[in-house]
Amino acid sequence: MISHVLPTYNRAPIAFERGEGTWAIATDGTRYLDLGAGIAVNSLGHANPDLVSALTEQAGRIWHVSNLYNIPQQEQLADLLVEHTFADTAFITNSGTEAAELAIKMVRKYWSEQGDPDRYEILTFEGAFHGRSTGAIAAAGSEKMVKGFGPLMPGFRQLPWGDMEALKAAISDRTAAVMLEPVQGEGGIRPLPDADLRLIRGLCDQTGALLVLDEVQSGMGRTGRLFAHEWAGITPDIMMVAKGIGGGFPLGAVVATEKAASGMAAGTHGSTYGGNPLACAVGVRVMQIIAQPEFLAGVNRKGALLRQKLEGLIAAHPGVFEAVRGQGLMLGLKCKVAPADLVNAGYAEHLLTVGAADNTVRLLPPLNISDEEIAEAVARLDRAAGRLDG
Ligand SMILES: *Cc1c(COP(=O)(O)O)cnc(C)c1O
Repeated sequence: MISHVLPTYNRAPIAFERGEGTWAIATDGTRYLDLGAGIAVNSLGHANPDLVSALTEQAGRIWHVSNLYNIPQQEQLADLLVEHTFADTAFITNSGTEAAELAIKMVRKYWSEQGDPDRYEILTFEGAFHGRSTGAIAAAGSEKMVKGFGPLMPGFRQLPWGDMEALKAAISDRTAAVMLEPVQGEGGIRPLPDADLRLIRGLCDQTGALLVLDEVQSGMGRTGRLFAHEWAGITPDIMMVAKGIGGGFPLGAVVATEKAASGMAAGTHGSTYGGNPLACAVGVRVMQIIAQPEFLAGVNRKGALLRQKLEGLIAAHPGVFEAVRGQGLMLGLKCKVAPADLVNAGYAEHLLTVGAADNTVRLLPPLNISDEEIAEAVARLDRAAGRLDG
């Protein structure tokens, strides 16, 4: 008999009832050190007092009004996103997938309004993840996600990840946009070199194609800059944000330049829940904390500390680990064993990590993890790897 919860997930047999910062406490009282942060979502840890007060204060006032009315918290969040990024405007969503959908619609609408509605092809990269809607799976095109869900939405072409020659050959003045994650998350923490990101920006400028960056996972301070593309010194035309921006509350955004957003007039897009006062009150608080230069400097320092310790771990367990990659607190351990085996060994050591493609285990801790917790996490990873040695 089918389970009452639609059985689309492979779940670990653990349930959590409480959280405190970097710790998630299971129903049996076991304290797990959380290096997964709900897949890069709990950016400021569990039950963060600042976020609890932002949420509960708003909950006592008003939860939802709909976008029939002005929403001051939504305007405040948009102001912060514009102030701290390349963007001129923001649309608030409830998730990364919804952000992907709008980004795709915005590209198509832009060219349609330019009088070129047939210019709709978006170039994407293999190994990408943009969500699970029909549009987002068509964009990423992975066999695993699209099988059985055809016919797919047309208008996407996947290129081999990081293959700049393939991109040069594919892009033209008929290309509507290039869409990619600066660091692939689900794809296995695969960063695109800064030089390649600059090259892509240049190719977009030459052809007029819009550059759409999916920073749902790599954004909100995860790599040590507010958004990962800042490392390359370029800006996109459209960017998707989600995961870390809500600190655990469902929230996302599409931010864009005035030019890229120029097709999106009144009535062209909408959402019942998107930009509701509760989510935005939390998002404003998250932005106020993470966008501070001192906070981001802390992410860089802690990322370097964790990375250095992981290098030692790789040397100590050459049969388990191959390499560490990524930036800031978005790190991936490329494994020689099955990633699921390491994740399971982590559970046994009361440590939470997240598997990914390309034989990688992701470490995505809360961005305010302490130095002591980093040391403790590496000790637990060391014991977990010890279970798999030999
Ligand atoms: C998680 C993710 C998404 C989808 O976000 P949801 O909130 O799950 O809809 C899209 N793009 C990237 C890069 C992601 O990591």
